[in-house]
Amino acid sequence: MDISEFRRTGHELVDWMADYLRDVERLPVTPDVQPGDIRRSLPAAPPQVAEPASQLMNDFGRLILPGMTHWGHPGFFAYFPSSASPPSMLAEMLTATIGAQCMSWQTSPAATELEQVTMDWLRQMLRLPDDFTGVIQDTSSTATLVALLTARERATGFAASIHGLQDVQGRLVVYTSRERHSSVDKAVRLAGYGIEFLRLVDLDGNFAMRPEALAAAMATDIAAGFVPAAVVATTGTTGTTAIDPLRAIGEISRRHNAWFHIDASYAGTAAILPEKRWILDGVELADSFVFNPHKWMLVNFDCSAYFVKDVDALLRTFSASPEYLRTAHDAEVANFRDWGIQLGRRFRALKLWWVIKSYGVEGIQAIIRQHCDWAQQVAGWIREDERFELMAPVPLALVCFRLRPREGEDLAAINERNKELLTRVNATRQVYLSHTALDGRYTIRMAIGARATELRHVQEAWSLISSSA
Ligand code: PLP
Repeated sequence: MDISEFRRTGHELVDWMADYLRDVERLPVTPDVQPGDIRRSLPAAPPQVAEPASQLMNDFGRLILPGMTHWGHPGFFAYFPSSASPPSMLAEMLTATIGAQCMSWQTSPAATELEQVTMDWLRQMLRLPDDFTGVIQDTSSTATLVALLTARERATGFAASIHGLQDVQGRLVVYTSRERHSSVDKAVRLAGYGIEFLRLVDLDGNFAMRPEALAAAMATDIAAGFVPAAVVATTGTTGTTAIDPLRAIGEISRRHNAWFHIDASYAGTAAILPEKRWILDGVELADSFVFNPHKWMLVNFDCSAYFVKDVDALLRTFSASPEYLRTAHDAEVANFRDWGIQLGRRFRALKLWWVIKSYGVEGIQAIIRQHCDWAQQVAGWIREDERFELMAPVPLALVCFRLRPREGEDLAAINERNKELLTRVNATRQVYLSHTALDGRYTIRMAIGARATELRHVQEAWSLISSSA
């Protein structure tokens, strides 16, 4: 592709993108395809000769687009949002155009320094403590793995110096709640603790971790010769957006020198609202904290904001400086390759910067506040309709509900009726909702957060649910 063809195709592409954003509402939110359909429609072998850009655009529209789920569709209420935005898309185009590897300060000084500045902006927006330093990771799953690897490194040192233990294999324990995200389990396995050393702490009636149960579990382990290495609390669980009591959990973690990590992947964004900042009460006791601007803060996937207090512990865990990467400035700059797992790094700070500048903090706050208000409206409609019941509190923009059990109906039957309702609603392809299980009870989740969603879409979704019921 020469530059003039790139220019022509690029202009057409931006027109296509603008039309897509304007018209996505008219597309079905989920595709009508069966496993293998898309693959069968594509040639099994690569083309031997170049195809023109017009052919590519044509194939994209004909073969690929019909197989896509539209996460930016205003009827997308499933999982948690991945709320891409036009400013973020533009910045992604620039990132792709420059194609820099941002592994060291020297390999793109502006990328490193913009990352430092934007991460500090985020720290201020969430009113995180001044002693938190931020670095962008790809996802929360990676950030939690980074936290548990650092915790392991630190606990190994403590075990040797405090308990005189030279070999900690099979002794380090990680604590989290029964409603934690599965990425915590994955990180425990990958970081080498062993999944049998992950303790799942009991919940209170709102699906949040019970600090007394955490303290009791730690006491039992310590008495048996184990070493508490880390505690992972969740602010905004995936199932119901339950808020673990951070202060109480943090105090217990500190008492036992356990690394305290907070997973606020989805909910963290809400803390930029003064009226929602309570969700982070006690965050100052944490050793590390992660939230995803790529979920609810209008930044395109991927961009995960990881904050850590003890940067030296992080660097001791991840630094690797082979000769070919050494530069004259290493002593005076941040080389973000040493702040996580990967060497090569995308220029993610650019889209973060672009989004914060394009909307301003107040603009982002207004959008998040609306989503939370609309979720309260949905919760109100559910409370007023005796066929339904709310399954959990609604502190943010996720509403968990189900059809109420009928007199004498057993769990399997009520679960089946709710599953059928969700299947029927999603089969319209006008909306997309997801589900979870709460103590075995099938629960429908409606997460409001796509950028294009307006109140009328929320109202239409509720009418559809109500009439399907
Ligand atoms: N933690 C929580 C609470 C989540 O809800 C999710 C995803 O929804 C994750 C972690 C994983 O996020 P990521 O896809 O960034 O790894």
